[in-house]
Amino acid sequence: MTKPTERLDAGLQPPLAFEASVVAVGTHGDRPAVALDRTGFYPEGGGQRGDRGWLGAVEVVDTQLSDGVVWHVLAEDVSLSGAVAGRVDRGFRANQARLHTAQHLASRLLHDRFDAPTESARMSPDSFTIDLSRADLTAEHLASVEDELLAWVLADHPVEVRRPTPTELAALPIRSAPKVTEDIRVVVVGEAVLDATPCGGCHVSRTGELGVVRLAHFERYKGGTRVRFRVGPGALHDDRQRTAAMTEAATLLKAPPLELATAVARVLDDRAATRERLARLQQELIKLQGAALGATAVGEDPRSVVARLPDDDAGFARALAAEIARAIGGVAVVACPGKAGLFVAATARESVADLGAWLRPRLQPLGFRGGGRGETLQGSMPEDRWAEVAAALLR
Ligand SMILES: [Zn+2]
Repeated sequence: MTKPTERLDAGLQPPLAFEASVVAVGTHGDRPAVALDRTGFYPEGGGQRGDRGWLGAVEVVDTQLSDGVVWHVLAEDVSLSGAVAGRVDRGFRANQARLHTAQHLASRLLHDRFDAPTESARMSPDSFTIDLSRADLTAEHLASVEDELLAWVLADHPVEVRRPTPTELAALPIRSAPKVTEDIRVVVVGEAVLDATPCGGCHVSRTGELGVVRLAHFERYKGGTRVRFRVGPGALHDDRQRTAAMTEAATLLKAPPLELATAVARVLDDRAATRERLARLQQELIKLQGAALGATAVGEDPRSVVARLPDDDAGFARALAAEIARAIGGVAVVACPGKAGLFVAATARESVADLGAWLRPRLQPLGFRGGGRGETLQGSMPEDRWAEVAAALLR
């Protein structure tokens, strides 16, 4: 049994570099992992991702906690033993610390200003997602939280860790009770205490390190609101990508980017009107083509028509087949020899009431795939068997 790992503490977050000894080699999940006697790597927990970095020259891709033992998950299965130099990925940790600190502050503002308590929170490598119990939050609410956060960032408030006595804890404006009962660690922002949150995660030392905080994505979720936010460089990159996508769409629509929504609404209106007009014209075309193709019917019982359409619009082919069948009181076959080899048939003849039973046995030897009962049959046919289809039908 591996002994619990000593967790190095340097205040707001564990140290980024340290010396330690390998005490166990094993696996976590199915990945190679090692345990050390002491570590500065932060294991996944409290909504925060496990640290990444290096032990000597070996890459650590994740850090996990199991029964008090911190497992450093390695990128490759290499043997590590004795003393190692641990080095946490500075950029990854800094981003996690920014996200975690920003989450405390965003949750504080949403709670205090809009009566929207945070129900749960989880971090991804580059964003933080919080689920709030209030269902009617709007973009305006979130924008006002962003504005206030930016004011706190620009004021560069200090962030500190406190280990308060029960009396001191009771005096702090915490939003929810600590999850532990001993050695309670509270992250306090601002000399005038803008926020105090019991938390064991990693945090920045001043709010100025956060940069811009963007609560850019939100959706209704399980009777509340789910908000995803990004901080600092992550927020900048996300905004840049979305601006580029909007600019590209605006360019396609020949509209100024800020008038994109109006331009899209116009396109959608146009499309709806075009669809309506197309449906009307198709109705007229089906009547005209039904009559014209009906005039080419051959045979007596049933009279039959075999027709081909240039494109594979299944709805149009079905409607046309039904119209021809009605016009001739017989069987109509319409094929669209496009990629899918669409093939539909319709009957309006009592002697051929079950088209599947009548037609399928003639077509299956020719490669027909598909089915149908009663008045219609739909499937696909190889293009090169068409002469035989016509012969089989008109026989
Ligand atoms: Zn935290």
